[in-house]
Amino acid sequence: MELEKDSYEAILKNLHDGLYFVDRNRMITYWNKAAERISGFTAEEVVGKSCSDNLLTHVNKEGKSLCKEMCPLAATIRDGKPREANLFMHNKNGHRIPVSIRVSTIADKFGNILGGIELFTDISNQKANELRVKELEKLAFIDKLTQLVNRRYAEKSLLNRFEEFKNLKIPFGILFMDIDHFKDFNDSYGHELGDHVLKYVATTFISNSRPFDLYGRWGGEEFIGIIRNINKEDLRLLGERVRSLVENSYIEHENEKLNVTISIGAAMAQKNDTRDTLLKRADVLLYKSKSSGRNCLTVE
Ligand code: GH3
Ligand code: MG
Ligand code: MG
Repeated sequence: MELEKDSYEAILKNLHDGLYFVDRNRMITYWNKAAERISGFTAEEVVGKSCSDNLLTHVNKEGKSLCKEMCPLAATIRDGKPREANLFMHNKNGHRIPVSIRVSTIADKFGNILGGIELFTDISNQKANELRVKELEKLAFIDKLTQLVNRRYAEKSLLNRFEEFKNLKIPFGILFMDIDHFKDFNDSYGHELGDHVLKYVATTFISNSRPFDLYGRWGGEEFIGIIRNINKEDLRLLGERVRSLVENSYIEHENEKLNVTISIGAAMAQKNDTRDTLLKRADVLLYKSKSSGRNCLTVE
């Protein structure tokens, strides 16, 4: 079967996965529809720019930026070997989305490398979350601004987790999180931009949560993560990941990158805990993170 050039283009454009091409200097030359949907950037905004140029700013799970020395696409253009990786992409709205990427090269008929291709899949369970939000919205359990569950729902959910813990011995822990110096952020940039930050921080939580974890807005700029079937060490790792993803998220405002950090108190439910004692402990741990300089996690 021979396909016309137009047919190839239509296929690429309508792929479910994000796809882009770069030349040897990593300047973006093509950007499909799914890439627009997943990243929030239109083709117009990115074609002709370098992908290391404040655009997608991929980070790995330790929050380390891959754009300079560790870019998989640059490495593939150098040695011709295809690569795969799971990493976190920046969305124009500010949040970070986990993506699975595959990169390979484009070569001419003599085998000279002309550039690279990156294909990326959104692995954030976004669709399942949208359905969940619709159901919970009907029951008035959703916080309108952030689309996270509200405190009322998080409190009920904690009671369920305690039941499960006592009857079925399924352990769980919580992450109690508070944005650092948020009053200063509002004072400097205004309440509206502050609201935007709350939204993208919440989306970063949702996009990176496992299907059985729950993130809620506890109040103002305080959030709770209820993490099921986990031990203390993994709770710490998961909390560190969330903290680092938020630290590495940003929005652009008048050519300035704005970001916030969060402090976390992470506590495992203990045998004799009630909901209130667990929350109290997490709150004390959060306070410890604040007094040790913020943008950190304390676990117990
Ligand atoms: P700390 O690092 O100690 O947490 O400092 P902070 O300034 O974040 O703490 P504080 O609790 O004193 O202030 C919280 C601020 O969060 C106050 C308020 O301006 C802001 N805030 C609370 N809810 C909202 C909201 O819905 N939208 C916006 N934009 N700001 C909010
Ligand atoms: Mg607070
Ligand atoms: Mg705060």
